[in-house]
Amino acid sequence: MEKVQCLIIGSGPAGYTAAIYAARAELKPILYTGLQPGGQLTITTEVENFPGYPEGVQGPEMMEQFQKQAERFNVDIRWNMITEVDFSQRPFKAIADDGKEIFAETVIIATGASARWLGLESEQKYNGFGVSACATCDGYFFRGMDVAIVGGGDTAAEEATYLAKLAKKVYLIHRRDELRASKVMAKKVLETANIEMVWDHVPLEVLGDGKVVTGVQVKNVKTNEEKKLDIDGFFVAIGHTPNTSIFAKQLDMDDNGYLITKPDSTYTNIDGVFACGDAQDHVYRQAVTAAGSGCMAAIEAERFLSS
Ligand code: FAD
Ligand code: NAP
Repeated sequence: MEKVQCLIIGSGPAGYTAAIYAARAELKPILYTGLQPGGQLTITTEVENFPGYPEGVQGPEMMEQFQKQAERFNVDIRWNMITEVDFSQRPFKAIADDGKEIFAETVIIATGASARWLGLESEQKYNGFGVSACATCDGYFFRGMDVAIVGGGDTAAEEATYLAKLAKKVYLIHRRDELRASKVMAKKVLETANIEMVWDHVPLEVLGDGKVVTGVQVKNVKTNEEKKLDIDGFFVAIGHTPNTSIFAKQLDMDDNGYLITKPDSTYTNIDGVFACGDAQDHVYRQAVTAAGSGCMAAIEAERFLSS
C-alpha cells in the first residue's frame, strides 16, 4: 500500500504533460505507463504538426523526449498498467497489474484511445508507410496523390473531405450503400468532386512494393467481384475505442466510452478525478491538444488539493 498526492494513468502526450506540471507543482506524481509506453505516437513515423519541431520528428523519438523531461523533474514512472480503480472514496484506490495498491488524493486519467483497425496483415505491414489511422496527422504526406479511406461514419466523412483538399483523388470505401455519417457531412462528401464513392466494398488487402503502399484490393460485398485501386495512401477511419473500460460505472462516459468532463475543464463527475487527452476527446484527437489538456488536469489537481 502506497499513499500519493497524484496518480497519473497513461504515458502519452497527455499523461507526460500532466506529470511535468504536477511534478513542478511538487505533487510528487507517480505515472503508470500502461502497455504502450509513450502512447499512440510510438506507432507512427513522422510527426510534423507538433510545435517546436521545425523539421518534424519521429513519433517514438518525440515521446522519448517527453519521458526524459518528466524524469528531469523526478516523476516516478512505473512500467505497469492499472487494472482496477475504486473512486467511491478519497483517497482513491488503484491496483496495478503487479498487485501494488496505490491510494491517491487525486487521479489524472490519460489512458488515450486506440484506433480500430481492419485486422489485415498488410495493413499492419505498411502502417506508417502509407497506411494511417489519422488523416489530420498524415494527409499532408499525400499532397497531389491518390488515396483511399475506409469507413462510413462522421470520422470517415470528415477525413475524406479533409483529404480531398490535399490529395488529387480520394476513394471512400464503404461496406454499405449509404453513409452512417450525419446528413450534412454526408452531403459534403457526395458533393466533393474529387471524392469517388466505392459503395458496398470492403478492403481485402493493402498492396505495396515491400516498402510503401501502391494500391488496395477491394471486394464488392453484393457481387463478390474484386478490383484493385491504385493509391499511395490508405486511411482507416472505422472508429476509435477509448481506453476507459476500467472506469465503467464509476465515471460518466458517452455512448462510445469517452469520459465526460465538465465544460472548459478536466473535472469528471468525481471531484479529485480528472480526465485529459484522447480518453475524453473524440473531436480533436491530436498530440498537442492531448498535451494541452494534460497541463489543464495537473493545474486543476493542484488547485483541488490546495482548496
Ligand atoms: P495516448 O497517446 O493514446 O496514450 C495513452 C496511454 O495510456 C498509453 O501510454 C497507454 O499505455 C496508457 N494506458 C492505457 N490504459 C492504461 C492503464 N489501464 N494503465 C496504465 N496506462 C494505461 N497526433 C498529432 O498531433 N500529430 C500526428 O502526426 C499524429 N499522428 C498519429 C499517427 C497515428 C498512426 C496515430 C494512431 C495517432 C496519431 N496522432 C497524431 C494522434 C495522437 O497520437 C493522439 O492524439 C495522442 O497520442 C493522444 O494522447 P493521449 O496522451 O491522450 O493518449
Ligand atoms: P462510427 O460512427 O462508429 O462509424 C464507423 C464506420 O466504420 C461505420 O460506417 C462502419 O460501417 C464502418 N466500419 C466499422 N467497422 C468496419 C470494418 N471492420 N470494415 C469496414 N467498415 C467498418 O465511428 P466514427 O465515424 O469514428 O464516429 C464515432 C462518433 O464520433 C460518432 O458518434 C460520430 O457522430 C462522432 N463524430 C462526430 C464528428 C463531428 O460531428 N464533426 C466527427 C467525427 C466523429 P457501418 O456504417 O456499416 O456500421
